[in-house]
Amino acid sequence: EAVDPLPLIGPSEVRSLTQAFNMMQARLTRFVTDRTRLLAALGHDLRSPLTAMRVRAEMVEEDETRESLIASVEEMQEMVDATLAFARGMASTEAYETIELGAYLKQLQFDMIDGFTLDAADSLWVRLRPKSVRRALRNIIENACRYGGGAEVTFRHDAEHVHVLVADNGPGIPEAELEQVFEPFFRLEKSRSRETGGTGLGLSIARTIIRAHGGEVTLANRAEGGLLVTITLPLETETQQEERNIS
Ligand code: ADP
Repeated sequence: EAVDPLPLIGPSEVRSLTQAFNMMQARLTRFVTDRTRLLAALGHDLRSPLTAMRVRAEMVEEDETRESLIASVEEMQEMVDATLAFARGMASTEAYETIELGAYLKQLQFDMIDGFTLDAADSLWVRLRPKSVRRALRNIIENACRYGGGAEVTFRHDAEHVHVLVADNGPGIPEAELEQVFEPFFRLEKSRSRETGGTGLGLSIARTIIRAHGGEVTLANRAEGGLLVTITLPLETETQQEERNIS
């Protein structure tokens, strides 16, 4: 019986298809590695001036100024390290510590100057890498201040998890883009974002850090307007609690 012949693709078509495909692949690879290299180079080049600043900061005689300068330099070093870690796709090597969440958030609030409101009553213990998580929370709270006009930070918990809630009264994020904003370098409405500064890395770094702790970062638009960011972290386990009580 008669079978419709398949359209024939000759060797020359195969060759040009292969060439086109290879070119596309090369361009994509170059695009991704260029971005990664840029980040790695930037991170690397910022390290030595920061080390120099750190040495000078330690020479400041007045206690409060010295401590504050050192803290700022250390924070920048953390950011540089986070950028490098991000560029390399590596996780942090910072040690885990058992932290009381309320005090930890109060310290963050104190250090951020452009304050946010904080309602933290319960005493909750979490096991985390303090500087890394601080960076994650800071990125999220800074976004709420920058795009949403201010942050309201609260937390609640269930038996196993604590949820840190960061709410603002800004424009929120279009539903279709709620996941995309977590992609590296993704930013909404270029014009608005450009005048506010930023890299488009904040949320992806935050999520990477929180996920490395077995947690999650989720976004939702609030019914009353504004964005609600939920940062979920596992609470300290009973075994960890016992260990803490013994030591
Ligand atoms: P950056 O702030 O450096 O641009 P992020 O990854 O932190 O990078 O955020 C990505 C984008 O998500 C921002 O450019 C902004 O458009 C949007 N966004 C983040 N947080 C908020 C918020 N609280 N309200 C409205 N839009 C936000």
